Amino acid sequence: MLNLRDEHGHLLAPEKRPVTRMLKGEVMTGSNAMDIIIRTLDGQMNVQLNVSGTAMRNSHGEVIGGVLIFHDVTERRQLERRTQETLRTLLSMAEALVLAPETGSTSEEHTPKTANPVATRIAELTCSVLGCRRVSITAIDPETEVMRPIAVVGLPPEQERQWWAEQPENSRLSDSPMPEMVARLRTNEVLILDMTQPPFDAAPNPYNIHIMLTAPMATGNTLVGLLLLDHGSDAHIYTDEEIALTKAVAKLGALVIERERLLHERANARANELALREANQRMDEFMGIASHELKTPMTTIKGYVQLVARRLKNSSQQEHIRLPELQQTLATSAELLERSDIQIARLTRLVNELLDASRIQANKLEFHMEPCDLTLIVQEAVQNQQYENARRPITLELPSIQPLPIIADVDRIGQVVTNYLSNALKYSPPTTPIRVRVAVDGQTVHVSVSDEGPGLSEEEQEHIWERFYRVKGIEVQSGSGVGLGLGLHICRTIIERHGGQVGLDSTPGADSTFWFTLPLSLVGQ
Ligand code: ADP
Repeated sequence: MLNLRDEHGHLLAPEKRPVTRMLKGEVMTGSNAMDIIIRTLDGQMNVQLNVSGTAMRNSHGEVIGGVLIFHDVTERRQLERRTQETLRTLLSMAEALVLAPETGSTSEEHTPKTANPVATRIAELTCSVLGCRRVSITAIDPETEVMRPIAVVGLPPEQERQWWAEQPENSRLSDSPMPEMVARLRTNEVLILDMTQPPFDAAPNPYNIHIMLTAPMATGNTLVGLLLLDHGSDAHIYTDEEIALTKAVAKLGALVIERERLLHERANARANELALREANQRMDEFMGIASHELKTPMTTIKGYVQLVARRLKNSSQQEHIRLPELQQTLATSAELLERSDIQIARLTRLVNELLDASRIQANKLEFHMEPCDLTLIVQEAVQNQQYENARRPITLELPSIQPLPIIADVDRIGQVVTNYLSNALKYSPPTTPIRVRVAVDGQTVHVSVSDEGPGLSEEEQEHIWERFYRVKGIEVQSGSGVGLGLGLHICRTIIERHGGQVGLDSTPGADSTFWFTLPLSLVGQ
């Protein structure tokens, strides 16, 4: 009737029963005492008893009876079990925290509405240790107080998707309609809210929650998150132990959130530092090249001018200078001045690039827009380059439909074509051809300049339009000298301000096609 079982619930064999063991002469004390489970006499409940005892013997040492002592340990064992389980869970949480992968470099984890794996693990463990229905964790940014849900457990998949979709974006703790509750959370108080009572009963309650427990998650005095849990529609009464446990769990969760935030900050700081270092390096290089590029032609011009001045002075000081000598002096002077002129053009180009770049930076690049024909602009730029680089084959392919009406700043668009062309000329081998192509696609006109130069890798292609960017290892192969890494940056700004796009198709080691598009202006519009 008592249905005697051992502490694991297995039926006790007759020889294992306490009475049998005791009558066999066993002393059942200390670690030899045993736990049994029996049914209460009314058959309603199981009770766990700890049994100790010993036999009684006569003067001959024969067992003639015995004493068994039964302690009811039902509650104590339950408590022990729960404590063990809780400890195990807390340890798992600490482990989850320590072993969490360092994913601080990805930015997604700080985008709104994504489940954080470590926070989800903590929510699951909380659910199992407190035996509740649902647990959710929301992170709060300490500076902006923006709340960001990071975990929910206890919802079936479909409801979970809906839950994530319904979470408001960019809501702030300080915007809460219940400031007095927020104030209590800030003082680290756990709130037990009866959702069936005012003011909560007026709000929608899709999961039919009766009692909601809200625990602040804080590190030091800073609130970094909220842990919400419920037992569904049960009117669950939270014991002091449960509240203490929730607080401990919330504390661990706070560490997770804080750790993730710090990792993220560290990743950002690293990225910023790298970007800054790269920008500084580019600036240093630029300053070096710019001063060298400006100084070299200046020195040459200065030398030529001094030479011309000296020759002319000498001639003027000779009393009886003959005509052929004078003619010779004038001819060399003219040649030196012509060479100076080339250097001056180079200087002017660099100074103009610098001016344009600084105007772009100050948002002061101005355009004189007017209706014009793109064919003429491209033709003129190509002819100029053909004239200056007579030995290079530069071909131009035009569409059959002409003119190509656009609204544009003629000089600026010419500048872009010239820049693409002079890059193609200077970065590809001196005998290779350059192809310029103009094509119409619907309302858009497409201009491209192709060369058979070194080409650019994908990574280089990403940076090519940035200010001061110059590809390492790409040398000027012919023509007008080193650049400052500004040309393409200026081209992109010009084209984008005309409502077009720029781009590059390139095979490293084979070719590059730099292109831009512009919207055609329709007649009658
Ligand atoms: P730069 O005045 O230095 O030529 P750009 O902005 O025009 O400045 O070009 C940036 C960099 O892009 C150049 O320094 C060069 O490394 C690379 N580049 C430009 N055009 C070509 C091309 N056609 N082929 C290969 N590399 C090019």
